[in-house]
Amino acid sequence: MSAISSQASSIILFGPPGAGKGTQAVRISQTTGKPQISTGDMLREAVRAGTDLGNEAKGYMDRGLLVPDSIIIGLISERLKRSDASGGVLFDGFPRTIAQAEELSSIAEVSMVIMIQVPDEDIVERIVGRRMDPETGDIYHIKFRPAPSEILPRLIQRKDDNEETVRSRLNAYHQQTKPLSDWYHKLSEKTNLRVISVDGRGSIDEVAESINLELEVF
Ligand code: ADP
Ligand code: ADP
Repeated sequence: MSAISSQASSIILFGPPGAGKGTQAVRISQTTGKPQISTGDMLREAVRAGTDLGNEAKGYMDRGLLVPDSIIIGLISERLKRSDASGGVLFDGFPRTIAQAEELSSIAEVSMVIMIQVPDEDIVERIVGRRMDPETGDIYHIKFRPAPSEILPRLIQRKDDNEETVRSRLNAYHQQTKPLSDWYHKLSEKTNLRVISVDGRGSIDEVAESINLELEVF
């Protein structure tokens, strides 16, 4: 995998909430050696720690709205200064607006955007059944990826993983994030950027396999 990890440029994982970005990010990170940068995880950490940034972000997250661009761009700029980011990173859940993508293009080189396509009607079941292991960060699903019985008692459900909030998160996705798909496709016509679409409706292993095939030519 040295050919892959020697690339200094970054990869973006793009898709609606619940598409499987976090699930696939762990595997892509192992394959490419690029650290996963999840703005959702960073924001939840700030909320848990009770920082000013976390307190400001919390109201938006609980309502299923996007956190303002200025907060997100500040988080990302700081994160990219860390030494592990020097060989390129894997962005998970960022950028989510055109303003964020424009800002990103001035601070990092992106060579690939992986779009995981999942229709809205599958999203609610995925999100409402999602469970997290707070000790390892592992992502499970009550039906699609059941956790081993010994860790069941410690699993948690995210506060925003309820049916009502999913509707507003999907709305935010269609209004503010989905236009980025065209934006990146247009950019790929005039640069070396590769934009690939992956059918996210198969099993977790099938989706991983489709992504791996694309990474082999990365
Ligand atoms: P995202 O990071 O895009 O919000 P996650 O990776 O957290 O998505 O996945 C959302 C939920 O759907 C989780 O409970 C996960 O276990 C489950 N999941 C992920 N990929 C698939 C898949 N291909 N098929 C069925 N369920 C999946
Ligand atoms: P999901 O797994 O549903 O894709 P995330 O964990 O990525 O959700 O994000 C959870 C919440 O954090 C979002 O609903 C939003 O409020 C906030 N958030 C995460 N990333 C961003 C971002 N790049 N821009 C704005 N808000 C964000």
